[in-house]
Amino acid sequence: MDAEIIAIGSELLTPRRMDTNSLWLTDKLNSLGVEVVTKTIVGDDRERLTATVKAAADRSGIVIVTGGLGPTEDDLTRDSVASALGRGMSFRQELMDAIVDRFARMRRSMAENNRRQAYLIDGAEALDNPNGTAPGQWIPLPGKGAIALLPGPPREMMPMYQNHIETRLKAILPPAFIATVWYRIAGMGESDLDQLIAPVYTRYTNPVTTVLAKPGDVEVHLRARCATQAEADALLAEVAPQVRELLGDRVYSDDGAELEEALGRLLIARGATLAAAESCTGGMLGGRITNVPGSSAYFRGGFLTYTDQMKTALLGVPEELIREHTAVSEPVAKAMAQGARERTGADYALSVTGYAGPDGGTERDPAGTVYIGLASAGGVEARRISFIPDRYRVRSVACITAMDWLRKRLT
Ligand code: AMP
Ligand code: MG
Repeated sequence: MDAEIIAIGSELLTPRRMDTNSLWLTDKLNSLGVEVVTKTIVGDDRERLTATVKAAADRSGIVIVTGGLGPTEDDLTRDSVASALGRGMSFRQELMDAIVDRFARMRRSMAENNRRQAYLIDGAEALDNPNGTAPGQWIPLPGKGAIALLPGPPREMMPMYQNHIETRLKAILPPAFIATVWYRIAGMGESDLDQLIAPVYTRYTNPVTTVLAKPGDVEVHLRARCATQAEADALLAEVAPQVRELLGDRVYSDDGAELEEALGRLLIARGATLAAAESCTGGMLGGRITNVPGSSAYFRGGFLTYTDQMKTALLGVPEELIREHTAVSEPVAKAMAQGARERTGADYALSVTGYAGPDGGTERDPAGTVYIGLASAGGVEARRISFIPDRYRVRSVACITAMDWLRKRLT
């Protein structure tokens, strides 16, 4: 059974408010094995709302509507859903009593228009709302599915889903058990990765494979859905290792861990320490490494050497070296890493120097070029990477490349 979500509220169509409810609900529905096939955002407009709800109820088993259950004239969800289903509504004294009671407990006087919230669509079940005045509604559509009306404010919507909707959904869904695995990969673009693993995953519709990309960081999710847990586990056990093998040592975690966390675990396992010397990343690398609780066990510290003088003063990079090769060069990246390693006594040191862009750069090394150094007991190396000069992207991919290089070295 598929689901669709309708977010109601004209404010959600402005640049200032986002529909976050549907993201949260999608996660919850997916964990029940329900795919969200359509999401719609509709302003507070009676005709559009009615048409949207009607179309959704016609094509999808589960329809979850959030927002527009308030007491004011622009809260049209109840009316519109009733017209979409061709049903009436009735005033329920018990709902009114609960609303009156809530106002009394908060020592506030109730406005007359709150009466609107005591109307229940014919055939609906009211869902109480301990965090607000608007009750939710659950409307079973026998042989088809159900429609749920939930309040807009996330702090009211989320508990109502958890307390009332989840069990009701489970009761109407065919039994489904889920097995998932989640690989995280650095240093590979989304399309290259997709090309690599598509020959395997396209042979299966179950598990479903999803590829999600951020700059320098890609996630592959596999989700098997079966009538028993044993079947779901077996299906995943058949497909996941094939994908895993193709991805090889590019996978830095399969349990959701961030790259810095995966790197930290390896450093701890080897009893090794790390230092950082940064120019164009301006502390971002040290920032990411220290995102991990307990990173003080292996991170000695970092040097933020933005100017040539600071590279010389703090890291001992020879002035002549910078003059001869420029600060963005392989020899300087190496000297920075070596300087950081020597001055902190760490086992490993990573360095980053580059042109983050959008301007700057040379003919040899245009904006978007970064040199990364890695110093260890075995010596020092550097590598050059280059991207389109988008400042955020360059800096964040430089950090990922540096951390992933050391991770692979330690694996
Ligand atoms: P309503 O239930 O329409 O009166 O919505 C009340 C408030 O809930 C809105 O002003 C928003 O701040 C918030 N809200 C409504 N819908 C959403 C949504 N889909 N995602 C996040 N917040 C929402
Ligand atoms: Mg609203």
